[in-house]
This record gives sequence, C-alpha cells and structure tokens, in this order.
Amino acid sequence: MIDQATIDRIMDAARIEEVVGDYITLKKRGANYTACCPFHNEKTPSFSVSPVRGIFKCFGCGKAGNAVTFVMAHENITYWEALKVVGKKYGIEVKERALSPEEQQHNNDRESMMITAAYAQDYFSKILHNHVDGKNIGMAYFAERGFTKATIDRYQLGYCLDSRAAFSSTALRDGYKKEFLLKTGLSFERDNGELADRFFGRVIFPIHSVSGRVIGFGGRTLKTDKAAAKYVNSPESEIYHKSSTLYGIYFAKKAMMKHDKCFLVEGYTDVISMHQAGIDNVVASSGTSLTHDQVRLIKRFTPNVTVLYDGDAAGIKASLRGIDMLLEEGLNVKTLLLPDGEDPDSFARSRSATELAEFIGSHEEDFISFKAKILLADSKSDPVKRAEVITDIVRSISVIPEAIPRSVYIRECGKLMDIGEDVLTGEVAKLRRKKLYDDAREAPKPAATPAPVGDEAAKEAALHTPPIPAFVENVFCREQEREIIYLLLRFGNHAFFDVRVSAYIIGEIVGEDLSFQNLEYRQIFEEYQALLDASDTVDIRHFINHADQRVCELTIDLLSPKYTLSKIWGHPETFDPDEERLQVEVPKAINVYKSKIVTQAIIRLQATLEGKSGEELDALLLKLGELSLVRKKLSEMLARPVF
Ligand code: ATP
Ligand code: MN
Repeated sequence: MIDQATIDRIMDAARIEEVVGDYITLKKRGANYTACCPFHNEKTPSFSVSPVRGIFKCFGCGKAGNAVTFVMAHENITYWEALKVVGKKYGIEVKERALSPEEQQHNNDRESMMITAAYAQDYFSKILHNHVDGKNIGMAYFAERGFTKATIDRYQLGYCLDSRAAFSSTALRDGYKKEFLLKTGLSFERDNGELADRFFGRVIFPIHSVSGRVIGFGGRTLKTDKAAAKYVNSPESEIYHKSSTLYGIYFAKKAMMKHDKCFLVEGYTDVISMHQAGIDNVVASSGTSLTHDQVRLIKRFTPNVTVLYDGDAAGIKASLRGIDMLLEEGLNVKTLLLPDGEDPDSFARSRSATELAEFIGSHEEDFISFKAKILLADSKSDPVKRAEVITDIVRSISVIPEAIPRSVYIRECGKLMDIGEDVLTGEVAKLRRKKLYDDAREAPKPAATPAPVGDEAAKEAALHTPPIPAFVENVFCREQEREIIYLLLRFGNHAFFDVRVSAYIIGEIVGEDLSFQNLEYRQIFEEYQALLDASDTVDIRHFINHADQRVCELTIDLLSPKYTLSKIWGHPETFDPDEERLQVEVPKAINVYKSKIVTQAIIRLQATLEGKSGEELDALLLKLGELSLVRKKLSEMLARPVF
C-alpha cells in the first residue's frame, strides 16, 4: 500500500504533458497539446492534453484521465504500479505503508507459493529437456502433437516423471517447504505423512498470471487407460484463482491490444496450436464456462471477442447461455463455427496461417444471429419451441448495454425469425424495464444524515422543493442525476444564499432519503459528502485524480467543454457564475429530479388501479392524490420565470 501523502506528492509533481510526452509525441496548440490518440486508431489528432487541468482527453474514443491513469492505460498496469512509475520519474521515493504482521504473513505466504511454483516450472522443464524419460516420453508426445521447440520454450512446457514423489522429494531436498508444496497443490500428503506428486506421469502446462508469473499447472496424462483423468489442474489456492485466470493471457495481451480482438478457445492445446499457426491473441477459459472476472480481464485489453466452437460440439447449446454474460459486459461477441469434427487445435494444425486467417475472415458471424440460427434449426414446425427460442433471443438482446447494437440485432433477428421489429423492440424494452426496476429495488439506501442548510426560515421555504412522500420508490433517471453531479463538481464550493451549493444539494438529496441509482454518480456523491464532512470545501482533484478510472473519466467528461457547452452556462473556461444564476439553476435541477421521480411514481400507481375496488382503491387514490399535489407544487416552482 502507498500512503496518501505520497500519492498526493506524486500527483502534485506530475506534469501531465511531460508524462504523456514520454510515450507519444505532443504538438503544442494554444494552452493545450494534441496528438493522435494512442488508445484508438486515427489519422487526425483528437487527443488533447491540458496542462492547466492536469488531464488528457480523447474526443474520438472518449478516453480521459490524469497522468497516472494514462500510464496505467498505456502500459496496462495497475493504479499502484502506475503511481510508482510516475513517482520514479519525479524522483519521489514511494514508501509503501508498513504492513500489519498478518498482512505481511499473508504476502510472505503468497510470495513463497509463487517462488515454489516457479521452481516447479523450472524443474519440470529441465526434466523434459534433460531426463531420459522426459525426452523419450514427454518430448516425444509434444513432437507428435506438432509443437515446435520455440513453442515449448515460450509456454515453458514440462514433464513430471512417472514416479510417485520424484518432484516432491527433490523440492524438499532443495529446501522448499512442505507447507508451500501443499498449499500450491503441487504435492499432496498421503496417509503415512509422505508427500506425493499431483502431476506424476503427466506433461505439464504452466499457467501464467497476466504479468507472467507461474501460478498454477495443468497436467495431461500420457496413459491411454480411461481410468486416469485426461487433465489434472492445480487446485484453487491463494495464488491461483481459477475463476479470474485465463490460460495464455500473458502471451496474448499485446496481440489483443494490437488487433483489438481476442479469440476464446477451450484449453491449453488450442491456445498453443493457434499461436503456432500465427495467431497470438488467443486465450482459453480452461474447460469451464466463463466468469465475470475472466470477462473483465479480457476487457482490459479489448472489447471484441470471437468464440471458437468445435464443429461437432454437442456442448454448443449448453454454452450459449454463458455467452449472454459477455454481451452483458458490453463486449462485441462473434462466433466461429469450425468444420465438422475439428477443434481449434486440430484445425489450426492442419492449415497454413493464411488459410486460417481466410477461414476466420469469411466464417465469423455475430453471436446473436448464430444463436438464433442454431436454436431455430431444431424448432422447425414446433410453435411452442419456436416461441421459447424467440424469448431466449430477446433475453440475449436485452442484456446488451448499448442502444445502437441492440437495435441492430433486433433488426437482424426480426428478419431471421420472421417477426416484426416492433414486437421484438417491445419485448426487449419490457425485459430491460423489468431489470431496471429490479436493480433499483435491490439498491441499498445510505443512512440519512441531513446536512444543516441555511438558517433563515424564509429562505428555507424558497429553497426547499416540496418533499416527496415516503412511499415513493426511487427510479433510474440518469440525465437528472448527471446534472446534479455536474453542479456539485463544478459549483459545489460556490456560495449560494448563506450556504454552499454542495451543502444545499447534499441536504436536499439525503434529506429526502433519495440515493442515486447510477452507481458511479452515487459513488461520487457519497465521496463528496464524506469530503465535505471533513472540510469546508472540496478539492475537485480528488475526483480528477481518482484511483477508479470510471470516476476519473466521468469527472473529466462532466467538466469538459463538450458537456458544459451544451448547458446554458456559457463557456466553462471563462465562466464565473453569479450567485443569482446559481440560486435559480441549482434548486431547479433538484426540482426536475424530484419531478421525474414523482411522475414515474404516478404512472406506476395508475397502472395498479385497474380492477381494484372498495378500500383498496380508496387507499391507492389517496396516494395518487398526494403525489399529484406534490407534482403540482413542483411544476409551479419550475414555471416561475427565470430571469
Ligand atoms: P486429444 O489428444 O484426445 O484430442 P487433448 O489433449 O487435445 O486430447 P481434448 O480432450 O481435445 O484434449 O480437450 C481440448 C482442450 O480442452 C485441451 O486443450 C485441454 O487443454 C482442455 N481440457 C480438457 N479437459 C480439461 C480439464 N479437465 N481441465 C482443463 N482443461 C481441459
Ligand atoms: Mn484435442
């Protein structure tokens, strides 16, 4: 951990144009610098660096950040690593916060496990290359599979002798502790207390972390008897988390960025054969269905994924559902169906690099059409099945976060399934609405601690928008939440009646027991609140220099001319707001936000009236009346002349 004081020193020292200038060539233009964006392909520069604000922003791809997040994104390293890089440039020694004894122990254990794993990898490779069995059995097997020497070296393949404890006893003799041999799962303990090798008699595929350290192993048996499992893998451990690891990611990450695309296959041999055929941007999920963590790992390098399917895989249908998660994470998913009887390994091995590239180019198709075709094929003339398929496809489309790809898919699937676009659009919208409500209902509310606002009662009355009845549930209104966050970040420290804009906004929102539904806005809001508790004014650099890239980008986005110019505020660089204007605009933003929530509540309530009678109906009508009154007051305030 790096202490906050050091982080602040680094942030203060960092000159954005110098840091960015270490990586790309900047051209001065006025107060700013420009360049072609290093994060996407472009011919005319839309990447801009502002020394005054200490930020960069690309108006082409939208990427934005500060000096540290630039290094982070450019080198694909963590925030902490990037801090160290920038600190080093300015001669600031990064002192790590002293770890507690427990933390130290934990770190030491992890490190010892890594060292043990690295030793094992080296041992297995040496056996493969030097031992007579390694050469005659292990190496012979790899050769038969068509792996070249370069490939074997690159992936650090190895062999574990076919004797119960050859590895374990050598490791112990070399001074490696039993504790870590067990914790890494390289060895296990027999009933008599002796160690045995997990991988004995198997060829070894080391599994590397993103940064290239060995964290686990896969071992393939060379025996033909069916009793032995074909593959054995390291167990879950403090260094090997199966669900957040992808086989091959270390070797693939550069190519993933370069080609802005990634191929997803099943296992070790697929990755290796594809690499030998000249395709480097390949990773494997190792047999299991993908997890959210794995998807996020891919997303660090590219949003475009092509899933390779075996030609005869019975499992295609089973795996379709898992792919919805890729869509949900906003990835662009394509599929590639290999010819009958081929898997990526066999296919890559039997084709030249050109043939492979050609096949991919001409056979890739988008995932949703692929899924529709597969499912429709065996629902022919069965209307019930057909209806199920349509529901299934609609669900897949509904999880896609962006509107434009959603509508493209709706159009395509409408054609494929011979259904009106309107019907599909309606169904998709229904599912999305449902999800929004479900999410909103699940979202926890923060503890209500109303901040004191102003002292004069008269002013209070003028300021405070009518309260929202307690039974109203909050709804998702991105635009209004965004506007309020914008005001908070941009004008929070400004005076306004007798208070600060920030205190007023926070008082209004928290006092109503409202909380933002957009998680990033909520995070900013809550952090702002905490900062305000600690000090009278809030330094906006807290958000510009935020460790969370999304918060950082959002802040910069909100403060950038693109957003603010669309407002009535005039040019943000020169604009100094007069208090009068804030006195109108700030309550208005709160008012519009509340109006939206109340209006939604009215609509929902009206929908429940049908079929009700007696007392139940009366109760609902009472609520409706209350809401209408609040809405009326709100709109009266909104209708007051502005200037
Ligand atoms: P064969 O020579 O019989 O084709 P293989 O070693 O190619 O055997 P397959 O059964 O074809 O293995 O499996 C394809 C891929 O799936 C392999 O690359 C392997 O990495 C992966 N795989 C299979 N079973 C497992 C498992 N239990 N754990 C991890 N990966 C596995
Ligand atoms: Mn195979």
